[in-house]
Amino acid sequence: KHTPVEGESAIALTQTPATYRNFIDGAFAPETTATIEVTNPADGTLLGRIPDSDAAAVEAAVAAARRAQPAWEKLPAVARAEHLRAISAKLHQNRRALADIVVREQGKIAPLAQIEVDFTADYIDYMAEWARRLEGEVLTSDRPNETVLLLRKPLGVVAGILPWNFPFFLIARKLAPALVTGNTIVIKPSEETPINAFAFAQLVAETDLPAGVFNLVGGRGKTAGEALVTHPGIDMVSFTGSVATGTHIMQTAGRNLTRVNLELGGKAPAIVLADADLDLAAKAIYDSRVINTGQVCNCAERVYVERGVHDALVDRLKTLFEGTRYGDPSKEADLHMGPLVNKAGLDKVAAAVEKAKSDGATIVTGGRIAERPAGFHYEPTLITGARADMDIMRRETFGPVLPIQAVDSLDEAIALSNDSDYGLTSSIFTSNLNSALKASRELKFGETYINRENFEAMQGFHAGRRKSGIGGADGKHGLYEFTETHMVYIQG
Ligand code: NAD
Repeated sequence: KHTPVEGESAIALTQTPATYRNFIDGAFAPETTATIEVTNPADGTLLGRIPDSDAAAVEAAVAAARRAQPAWEKLPAVARAEHLRAISAKLHQNRRALADIVVREQGKIAPLAQIEVDFTADYIDYMAEWARRLEGEVLTSDRPNETVLLLRKPLGVVAGILPWNFPFFLIARKLAPALVTGNTIVIKPSEETPINAFAFAQLVAETDLPAGVFNLVGGRGKTAGEALVTHPGIDMVSFTGSVATGTHIMQTAGRNLTRVNLELGGKAPAIVLADADLDLAAKAIYDSRVINTGQVCNCAERVYVERGVHDALVDRLKTLFEGTRYGDPSKEADLHMGPLVNKAGLDKVAAAVEKAKSDGATIVTGGRIAERPAGFHYEPTLITGARADMDIMRRETFGPVLPIQAVDSLDEAIALSNDSDYGLTSSIFTSNLNSALKASRELKFGETYINRENFEAMQGFHAGRRKSGIGGADGKHGLYEFTETHMVYIQG
């Protein structure tokens, strides 16, 4: 159990579950009567209650963000960056307690939760560095004595809607670029994993960030989420989550022509060629499949392996899959994975494997809901004999399940990879430079990893093609998604 040390804030989960309050206009709002219970997916214990906010709470948050925005925009960017650094310093100080919350409410194993928290603080620092690099352009003019400027300005108020799989990091992926460019923000975390966001708000409240710049509203997608994305006071919805919700949000935000930035699901292909280092490929693909219990948008969800090395790859993967240690990450150390986030997630994974079986695929190992331990555990599952027309190769499973299809050539693997609704990430394992280059030319994805698996770099650009999203995040290009241009023509 975590014991606070000097400099840490009182954010740790306590024996008596706390009731959290919305953070609006620089203060915690009164407790709401309607609440949502948050439980630990490993053992069902109640961790706390968050507001089940209605449209009135959303209205108050958006109004506060709108009031705060003009003064925030007028601050020099370096001053805004100082506020961001004060927040990241709080994250660094409270890194262990924050990771503990992520472990308990999401079911992530402790080392990965710690990486998530530390990466989040680094990400905020990285985005703060952009303060001195926000650039417009000076353009040539068609007229004499004229100066033409392209200025970059903040959009206004951003709504950040978050999923549950990297709940803490995704706060920063929305907040840091939004704030450094002069926007204010209203965040709605996932109702599955909101407590880490309320802890984040507590830490923000301990800094001198001006009131209304960051606001947090707890609630359900259909009520608080819907009220936020359809609010006319929102200038951009930055959403990470499923394709279904993203599609719906694009339509509802479209009523006000509110711009959307959508980071959606994936069905990442991993191509393994006959000349690949098979030990490396198997380990990378395995790690990618069990990390966060398979609940990661950019991790390998389908494998295309050249027929000649199919059995050798499967043998290696089988050994790795069967060596997986899983359990309750809040009680056990040295695990590969924890439970799935909830019962719905478990049922979805189980149904996907049953469908693959009835479609004629072969279960090499796994294939059942785990009887032990308690919690939403699914056995790590390796599937062979998958075909392109099977759902298991087409739909996002979001669990520790890996289907494999044998192919005859790189061309076939690339064609099958591209023939997908999803286009977020892809990977290829080969020792042939020409094959790697061909794959990077022909794979139609936002990212391709060569001889490695995820993760993406914060200075890169994380963006999905097809139904995996619109726009992107991270780096310079992600930063400028939070701005709009303003042309100025100066005669004289
Ligand atoms: P989800 O779409 O079910 O929920 C995401 C958020 O949307 C939640 O906060 C939810 O309350 C809210 N929401 C639901 N209905 C809404 C509505 N009508 N209006 C406004 N908000 C609404 O997604 P999830 O299950 O939390 O997350 C898993 C999904 O996220 C997976 O598909 C995964 O691939 C994707 N994901 C993508 C990325 C990426 O960078 N592309 C990163 C992480 C997760």
